Amino acid sequence: MIFAANFKMHHTRQSTTEYLDRLEALLERAEYPFKVMVFPPATALQPSREWITVGAQNAYPAEEGAYTGEIGLSQLHEFEIDTVLIGHSERRQILGEDQEFIAKKFAFYREHGFQIIYCVGEPLEVREQGFEAVAEYLWEQFDDIDIDYERLIVAYEPVWAIGTGQAAEPEAIAATHAELRRRIKRPILYGGSVNPTNIARIAEIPDVDGVLVGSASLDPEKFHALMIPV
Ligand code: PEP
Repeated sequence: MIFAANFKMHHTRQSTTEYLDRLEALLERAEYPFKVMVFPPATALQPSREWITVGAQNAYPAEEGAYTGEIGLSQLHEFEIDTVLIGHSERRQILGEDQEFIAKKFAFYREHGFQIIYCVGEPLEVREQGFEAVAEYLWEQFDDIDIDYERLIVAYEPVWAIGTGQAAEPEAIAATHAELRRRIKRPILYGGSVNPTNIARIAEIPDVDGVLVGSASLDPEKFHALMIPV
């Protein structure tokens, strides 16, 4: 199982360091057989720990250059970061990233050997059209993405389940992950309102290889507690 924490625009540099210290101590003590990843804001990036991979929530597809407000390969290298989240629905929807730009990011960071957590997910209006519409929508989000890349991890995150407190039903997660598994050989995470109440049922679904967690990951003890029932 992979447990990935997406802080979004929460935590400062100092609180991220404290978080990593506390989580590292908990993981070290228990020696869980899990892969644990934390994605803090860009201002809090720092090298990975022994038990925790630190990754970037976003990065521009260039080494450096005239891209106001962005960070790129040079800035990630400074903090020894080689893991990046690409295609999160908040970047697709709020920041207006289209598939062409997302594929460009993917290709750039793939070329530089990064581990890539690649997010896909359908909005509610697509979900309401039924499973075939969902499958078609999700596969379109793989346009120009190398699904055989050996450092790829896919995160299936239904947009309507993110930050709403309403995770997808286990049956729906199982069906969607099985659909993705037809072509994706790499790990597939589920994301969208994962919490202490639903983690056990979600973790036992076949083809769920881990979870990407937002709000329930912001406290290190609470995030760590998600690993206990698994
Ligand atoms: C996310 O932002 O990737 C996410 C899954 O958030 P939450 O767990 O808060 O729904």
